[in-house]
Amino acid sequence: MPLVSDAFIDGRWVPGAARFVVRDPFDDAQVAEVTDCGEAEVDAAIDAAARAFGAWRQKPALERGKLLAQLAAAMLRDERRLAELCTRENGKALKEAVAEVRYAASFFDWFAGEAGRAYGETIPGSRPDQRIVVTREPVGPCALITPWNFPYAMLARKLGAALAAGCTTVAKPAELTPLGALAIAQLAEQVGVPPGVINVVPTTNARRCGAQLLASPAIRKLSFTGSTAVGRELLRTAADDIKRVSLELGGNAPFVVLADADLDEAVAGAMVAKFRNGGQSCVAANRFIVERAIADAFVARLLPQVQALVVGRGLDAGTDLGPLVDDRSVAKVRRLVEDARAKGATLLHDAPIRGRLVGPVVLGGVTPAMDLWREEIFGPVIAIRTAADEADALAQANDTEYGLVAYVFTRDGARQQRLAERLESGMVGVNTGLVSTAQAPFGGIKHSGFGREGSRHGLDDYTHLKYVSTR
Ligand code: NAP
Repeated sequence: MPLVSDAFIDGRWVPGAARFVVRDPFDDAQVAEVTDCGEAEVDAAIDAAARAFGAWRQKPALERGKLLAQLAAAMLRDERRLAELCTRENGKALKEAVAEVRYAASFFDWFAGEAGRAYGETIPGSRPDQRIVVTREPVGPCALITPWNFPYAMLARKLGAALAAGCTTVAKPAELTPLGALAIAQLAEQVGVPPGVINVVPTTNARRCGAQLLASPAIRKLSFTGSTAVGRELLRTAADDIKRVSLELGGNAPFVVLADADLDEAVAGAMVAKFRNGGQSCVAANRFIVERAIADAFVARLLPQVQALVVGRGLDAGTDLGPLVDDRSVAKVRRLVEDARAKGATLLHDAPIRGRLVGPVVLGGVTPAMDLWREEIFGPVIAIRTAADEADALAQANDTEYGLVAYVFTRDGARQQRLAERLESGMVGVNTGLVSTAQAPFGGIKHSGFGREGSRHGLDDYTHLKYVSTR
């Protein structure tokens, strides 16, 4: 299929008056020139979503589900092209881009099934002649704002649920990576999703676009994935029109390794939890908390695996870590590592930074006074602090305003249960470094946001309950 770079509004590809260039983070090569949506295009997209809503919500849920299943299949058929496109606009290693396409398709597939399971309920009335019936209705046209780190998956988690519920959508992808969202729209068009149900409005003016979406009474819900700072701002604005909001925000995941852990398992988990997408993930392990008794042994097993990581162009076979997405991300990682070193961290492994290619770094002797203990690193840096015992590890793990995911490694079943219950996060990985999967509810607590994506709960954010009392 040809590369699409125009905005997608009301079933039409709209070149727009202005364009912006999307570049490959590896070498700045131009990947595409994309429509830069202004107010007129965003208005047109909102109108289209509003007009399409009536017919889309009336379409039998099983038919909506069928279209989602076809969209999933279309993505998988086109997996190689989609993965290469993702690597070119985002920089990630091709094998990770392939994994992302499959992960994204799995949400369309999952919600294809969930569409037909948007069950209501009947409730015994208080009088013999009363019937109480509860149904679930789509909330209406939704604004979907997504980040650059998983251009397909972050949109698919929202779009799958929205479409299954009967909502129409206006998607605003990140300026750095708009091509993934446009490619999904192209496949949706191909499988027959009606005009106006999916609209995609790339723009260089996220703030104005966000404000416009939130100001429109036609838009009844915002689903946002991105930083906590922007999420907070959007939540405030959404209050003006009492819009439904779900927020998938930043994380600061603890990765706890207790003395009785299987260290090989812990190291394998660490490699996934830290280096997936070069550490540019909201569920990336940010703070390694290792029980003192086994800290040296853990590091000794970890280092060879870290040293074996291949850093390079994402499209090259064998690359494990592609470039970081932009210069700002590189500068942030550099700043956090320098700050930690200045405050006394030990460099256990270092790699030179070449352009945006940032090799893995391992730091020991980390303390809470270091910025990387408080901030999302969003890069391939392992920061290790030791803990005296389980209680100390738990206290350290919960000492953050974030609460997206926590990882814990221990062979002891009672400890597994205790820690899983006491860790303050929306998700816990016990003896695993990967928790993301379509059938489980993904989401955070505290400053990591609210709402859940995936699982049978994923539809909740896109539906409201209606109760009918009949005499
Ligand atoms: P970001 O700066 O908050 O951007 C996210 C999205 O919001 C982008 O589309 C961005 O557009 C847009 N945006 C920025 N400012 C806006 C404004 N004032 N009004 C409306 N929209 C605005 O976050 P990011 O740096 O792209 O992504 C990384 C963050 O996302 C990290 O904190 C990460 O943890 C989080 N994240 C969370 C999850 C989760 O599920 N919890 C998943 C992935 C990522 P432009 O890019 O065009 O500016």
